[in-house]
Amino acid sequence: MATGWGSLLQDEQQLEELARQAVDRALAEGVLLRTSQEPSSSDVVSYAPFTLFPSLVPSALLEQAYAVQMDFNLLVDAVSQNAAFLEQTLSSTIKRDNFTAHLFDIHKQVLKEGIAQTVFLGLNRSDYMFQRNADGSAALKQIEINTISASFGGLASRTPAVHRARVLLIAQEKERNIFDQRAIENELLARNIHVIRRKFEDVSEKGSLDQDRRLFMDDQEVAVVYFRDGYMPSHYSLQNWGARLLLERSCAVKCPDIATQLAGTKKVQQELSRSGMLEVLLPGQPEAVARLRATFAGLYSLDMGEEGDQAITEAIAAPSCFVLKPQREGGGNNLYGEEMVQALERLKDSEERASYILMEKIEPEPFGNCLLRPGSPARVVQCISELGIFGVYVRQRKTLVMNKHVGHLLRTKAIEHADGGVAAGVAVLDNPYPV
Ligand code: ADP
Ligand code: MG
Repeated sequence: MATGWGSLLQDEQQLEELARQAVDRALAEGVLLRTSQEPSSSDVVSYAPFTLFPSLVPSALLEQAYAVQMDFNLLVDAVSQNAAFLEQTLSSTIKRDNFTAHLFDIHKQVLKEGIAQTVFLGLNRSDYMFQRNADGSAALKQIEINTISASFGGLASRTPAVHRARVLLIAQEKERNIFDQRAIENELLARNIHVIRRKFEDVSEKGSLDQDRRLFMDDQEVAVVYFRDGYMPSHYSLQNWGARLLLERSCAVKCPDIATQLAGTKKVQQELSRSGMLEVLLPGQPEAVARLRATFAGLYSLDMGEEGDQAITEAIAAPSCFVLKPQREGGGNNLYGEEMVQALERLKDSEERASYILMEKIEPEPFGNCLLRPGSPARVVQCISELGIFGVYVRQRKTLVMNKHVGHLLRTKAIEHADGGVAAGVAVLDNPYPV
């Protein structure tokens, strides 16, 4: 078993006792989720699932992930400011994917009117797995970058732009992951920054812009809008699309603004991996380009044409080596194995295929750990991990005034699950044990 906790993992009695202690500690420390029971049982919580032991992570890869985070911040910011690149990259996707098309529509409307926002606040999380090489070593390969509602972190920036700002947190009424959001609210409150928590519906009822496109909510001016909602089609009714447009038209700092959300789509990720693309977006920065490229896995466009045809043929011939991804966030949307083959057979001759991308499947080395979840016994299973690095940046018009990495997130799941995060009930919270 590739783990540092060999003897402990074999003693069942000791494992159960340790698990009991760890669960009590998690409850006491506030590592909580609301239970998923209907209806929204707002006063019932349980602990967020986590691993009993920190999982071993090669320290060189942890360092590499931190070292490349500022480059990813720069890249996302560059993409978000490059309207021509976004338009070209997403043109085939938006023809077939309504959700991305709707986001893009808001982007175009905002550009046409002229962007009122002058300060831009990015909060990203770049996720990686550790690809097992033939020689036994491991390589850091990016799974995706999350540019909207990157969760399970804490926002604690003290930049002048947000200091004493009033923050409008857009969230859903029923939110299991509320304690993650509350941690951020509490950090802001501790810095005397007032947070108001509202739904999209509240914005359409009580939000407004003045003639300078300043944003008001219940007659109070809002400086920063932080989205923990709005990354999935199901988050939007017609009314909610209207609310999103109102927020985007305002001069309030959006985290993220619509262009930055689009920069985080899987289609953009795939186009960025084309040779020469990074050089265009980050001119004169060859070192950053090399650091970024080293983390890219194989990514393939499914646009109509020879290139897409070939990718489909290869994926059908070797299904275990690929993942089929639509333009969706939040877990559980990707297709693997036989399901992927069936989807590719169905999509092959239709333009709908352009709304997907194909990705090389990362195969990390499995290891033993104990996944603790409410209601299930402590037992050791074979696991793999996904490392996320949080990045924050602030841009004032064209000038980047802050760019840093602000911590990590390690999520671990049993190997039998191809897809899914913590909120989806598949992965659990973990900590890297650098080796
Ligand atoms: P989402 O936006 O839904 O989080 P992701 O691209 O992060 O989409 O995929 C969801 C999950 O699927 C990841 O957390 C990871 O466990 C798995 N996954 C995604 N891409 C790959 C890949 N290329 N190789 C192996 N596993 C992957
Ligand atoms: Mg993900």
